[in-house]
Amino acid sequence: MKSGSFEEVSRFSRVSRVKRVVAGFLSVAFLSGAMGVLSGCKKRGFGKDAEGKVKVVASIYPMYDFVKRIGGDLVAVKMLVPAGTEPHSWEPSTRDMQDLEEADLFVYNGAGMEAWADDLLGTIQNKDLIAVEASKDVSLLKTEEVHHDAHEDEDHDDDHEDHDEEGHHHHGEYDPHVWLSPKNAEVEISAIADALIEKDPEHADTYRKNLEEAKKECEALDSAFEAELAPYKGGYIVVAHEAYGYLCKEYGIKQIGIEGVSADQEPDAARMREIIDMVREYGIKCIFFEELVDPKVAKSIADETGCKTMALSPLDGLTKEDIDSGRDYFSVMKDNLQALVDSFQ
Ligand SMILES: [Zn+2]
Repeated sequence: MKSGSFEEVSRFSRVSRVKRVVAGFLSVAFLSGAMGVLSGCKKRGFGKDAEGKVKVVASIYPMYDFVKRIGGDLVAVKMLVPAGTEPHSWEPSTRDMQDLEEADLFVYNGAGMEAWADDLLGTIQNKDLIAVEASKDVSLLKTEEVHHDAHEDEDHDDDHEDHDEEGHHHHGEYDPHVWLSPKNAEVEISAIADALIEKDPEHADTYRKNLEEAKKECEALDSAFEAELAPYKGGYIVVAHEAYGYLCKEYGIKQIGIEGVSADQEPDAARMREIIDMVREYGIKCIFFEELVDPKVAKSIADETGCKTMALSPLDGLTKEDIDSGRDYFSVMKDNLQALVDSFQ
């Protein structure tokens, strides 16, 4: 029968289509599994847990922490620069875009911290993605001001000009580490809260309440820094990289950076000599290192000058262990304050 044979043909083709789809699905599943293994198993996509939540991609650790603080359980947050990675030299891969294609908000610090952000956003297809530059309301410090601040009494201006040009070339015009002043952290947290309220007005009251609490914590932190660093105004700190411009300006201390504002260049012999001379001249007792930068230069300056070494965190990033053990912006900043006070004693 004509109709019977037609049915048979059509059933056959339906079955083979299903088989093809299943085979295709399996190979995609296999491939993405294999890619997961190759890429160190960082899980991509927001997954089921994010359903009904505001999906946020945060660039670096402080942004991630601020978003979680304001968003709590109402947001699903992914950190773009992996934990334990020094972010100044990090670059996104094409795989990092997948999270952004699914996200509602992309929260980044700005001020030149994420030099790759503009290019990345230009390639994203997700038309609903809102990009939030958290530092947009902060008054920024030029890198030149930061650099010259620590060396204004020095004579070797030619060396400094070289260093500045390099700093300028690599890292843009401004010091991006705005969050290291609690006052600026408050401004950034407020910008993030505004964006969440705009995206998810239904939960505005919760975001506002969390913002009020975060502001109080920022203000308490600022008062503690102000009070405890007051006796050391005018004092110098030697740090792994020049991340502390805003903190120093706020509380009247001065930084000498082993590396520049972007932690990507070890000092040459002349700069080493200069740092060692300043350590002796200013009676500096401590050389700070940071967890995500190799401490060997800090240790050798300390050996040469008889200084102690201590950790000071620019919060550029935290290790996974730190995050898992519940450390956050406020606890790390309190540890930083204690370390700063100890360094002067
Ligand atoms: Zn940094």
